[in-house]
Amino acid sequence: MVQFVDASLASNPQLDNELDEKQLKTDFNKLQKRIRRDTGRAISDFKMIEEGDRIMVCLSGGKDSFTMLDILISLQKSAPISFELVAVNLDQKQPGFPEHILPSYLDKLGIEYYIINRDTYTVVKQKVPEGRTTCGLCSRLRRGTLYAFAEDIGANKVALGHHRDDIVQTMFLNMFYGARLASMPPKLLSDDKRNVIIRPLAYCKESEIEAFSKFKNYPVIPCNLCGTQENLQRQNIKHMLNQWEIDNPGRVQNIFNSMQNIAPSQMADGKLFDFENLNIDRSAAREEYEYANEQLIEGVGSFAQKEPRLKDENSIDVFNL
Ligand code: SF4
Repeated sequence: MVQFVDASLASNPQLDNELDEKQLKTDFNKLQKRIRRDTGRAISDFKMIEEGDRIMVCLSGGKDSFTMLDILISLQKSAPISFELVAVNLDQKQPGFPEHILPSYLDKLGIEYYIINRDTYTVVKQKVPEGRTTCGLCSRLRRGTLYAFAEDIGANKVALGHHRDDIVQTMFLNMFYGARLASMPPKLLSDDKRNVIIRPLAYCKESEIEAFSKFKNYPVIPCNLCGTQENLQRQNIKHMLNQWEIDNPGRVQNIFNSMQNIAPSQMADGKLFDFENLNIDRSAAREEYEYANEQLIEGVGSFAQKEPRLKDENSIDVFNL
């Protein structure tokens, strides 16, 4: 059998490369659009950014903070309101921290930025006994330094790069190890009320941020320079959630959605809902309950009867709450 092959379609390495590049560009554009859309939605849902804001964008050198800065800069260009962005990195003096990476990256971006030098690493090593986890004190020192600096530079908001998966993981960490139903909210007033913290990536999936970061080839700084392994408990939670997601795609999103759809009267926290003062009100006509319309009432009271009655014949409703 004679086969007619269009010469132009025969394998052509140059053409293949061009097609690959075209596909990559399409994939990248779609990904960028999704992350921009999710970020924009979170910003709008929580009124994270307002006219005249000066936002301190915390840049750790990880994929999340690089992505957050990038997306905020791109949203700033098209936003109908005007706001300022200031990138800030806290150099905690961990051994091997590549000091040149962020300044040279930020110089190229051409935005206002500051590098704070504070040796929290030595403080943490001195104060925390060998073998104990250092993250608690380290985070407190970092938070204190950054919040104070936000005031110094006149920033009224502090942006952190936590994403949807961080938020879900933190909720399980608090439940499993702290017996609390709490997480990192997309927007927060600091305890001393001096700073508003925003998390513009709150709706973004970590997998998409990771892919975006690879596309962008950010000069990511490894996050294990302090010598502490990522918190083992968090690793376990991550593993659990990843497995759930494999077994039931969409579960993590459902969990996150449920954090935005809380019914205090269906939980058990007397501080959120007044369970003590539940008063019945039978003044309105009763709605039909959904259950079998045939039932047998037995007992010794005045409504007891031996024969089943149909509900539409004014039967007595017996139901389980
Ligand atoms: S992993 Fe290291 S740098 Fe990160 S919070 Fe813990 S001690 Fe600090």
